[in-house]
Amino acid sequence: VFVSFEGGDGAGKSTQVRLLGEWCAALGREVVLTREPGGTTLGLTLREAVLHGDHVDARTEALLYATDRAHHVASLVRPALERGAVVITDRYLDSSVAYQGSGRDLGAEEVERLSLWAVDGLLPHVTVLLDVDPEVGRGRLTDAPDRLESAGEEFHRRTRAAFLERAAAEPGRWLVVDASAAVEEVADRVRAGVVERTGL
Ligand code: C5P
Repeated sequence: VFVSFEGGDGAGKSTQVRLLGEWCAALGREVVLTREPGGTTLGLTLREAVLHGDHVDARTEALLYATDRAHHVASLVRPALERGAVVITDRYLDSSVAYQGSGRDLGAEEVERLSLWAVDGLLPHVTVLLDVDPEVGRGRLTDAPDRLESAGEEFHRRTRAAFLERAAAEPGRWLVVDASAAVEEVADRVRAGVVERTGL
C-alpha cells in the first residue's frame, strides 16, 4: 500500500505521516516512512541544493525534484512495496505539479508528464491532501523559512488551488482533509479514508 501526503507548509504533514505510520505498525504491517525531496542519501544532497543552494531557474528546479523522485522510487519505494510494506511519503509528484507546474508557471501537464516518466508511472493508492489556509499554515512553522516558504502569498494561494483542483479531478485517489482541525481529529479522518480506499 502506497500513501502520499500533500499540502502547503505547516499543514501538519509530518505529524500525520507519523501517526498513520504508528497505526499501520500496530496492525503488524512493515511501515516505511519517507519524504520528498530528501528520502535517500542522494536526495538529501538534492534537497539541500534546491532549497538552500544557488538560485536555479524553474526548469532546473523541476529537474532536480524529478531526479530526487526517480531515485527515491527506484531505490526505496518500489522495493518496499514489492516486499509488501506500507509506504507513506511526505510529498510526492503532486507537489511538483502544484509547485513547479502551477506555482512556477511551467505548466501542470508538462510537469506531470516529466514526473510520471521519472517514476515509471507509479501512483499512490491514496493521496491525502491536508488542506489549510496558507496563512494558518505559515503561522505553524517554527524553523527559519527556506526559500519557498518565504515565497509570496500569491504563490501559495496558486499552489493550494492547484492541489484542490487535482483532488477534485481524481476523487478516487485523493482524500481531502481539513487540516485546520485538531491533530487527533485530522488523524481519525485520515485513517478512516485510507481504510475505506485500501482495505488496510
Ligand atoms: O515539506 P518540505 O519541508 O519537505 O518541503 C520543503 C520545501 O520545498 C517547501 O517549502 C515546499 O513548498 C517546497 N517544495 C517544492 N516543490 C516540491 C516539493 C517541495 O517547491 N516538489
